[in-house]
Formats: sequence, structure tokens, C-alpha cells
Amino acid sequence: MEKKCSHIAEYLKDVKPQSKRCEDCVKKGDTWLHLRMCLDCGYVGCCDSSKNQHARRHFEETQHPLIESIERGDTWRWCYEDEIFF
Ligand SMILES: [Zn+2]
Ligand SMILES: [Zn+2]
Ligand SMILES: [Zn+2]
Repeated sequence: MEKKCSHIAEYLKDVKPQSKRCEDCVKKGDTWLHLRMCLDCGYVGCCDSSKNQHARRHFEETQHPLIESIERGDTWRWCYEDEIFF
């Protein structure tokens, strides 16, 4: 059976990224690989391949489940809770 994300309707708003970099990494003087944006509040954090995984940490702290890649050329979104792309 195809898994579906139950959060899309609730969380999908017209959000704009709060930043063009991972501010939490910048504060620590760290670097990141890729950027992800929270689709609820526009928080920008680094991906799971980055050392600090700020996007995932944001989800754990806020329970905002949906993110979107804001890397150039990427068009996918991801739900941390259902663990699916959409
Ligand atoms: Zn979901
Ligand atoms: Zn980061
Ligand atoms: Zn958020």
C-alpha cells in the first residue's frame, strides 16, 4: 500500500526561507552540505548528511514534520514523521 503523508494539508503554507544559510551552523562556525527549509515556519537548517543535522533537530524540537530542499535544482519535499518524499 502506498504510504501517504497526513500532514500536507495542515502544514503546507506559502513559507519563505528565513535565511539562505544554516544560521545555527554559522553561529558555531561550522559548515554544512545541503540546506533544508521547514515548511511550517521557514526555518533553514542543514541536511542529515551534514555534521549538525539542524533540519532534523528542528523537527525534534518543534514537531514541524515537513521540509523542502532549497538546493538549486531540487524539487522534493520530505516528511520526517511519515518518512516519505512527496
Ligand atoms: Zn507527514
Ligand atoms: Zn546546521
Ligand atoms: Zn519549523
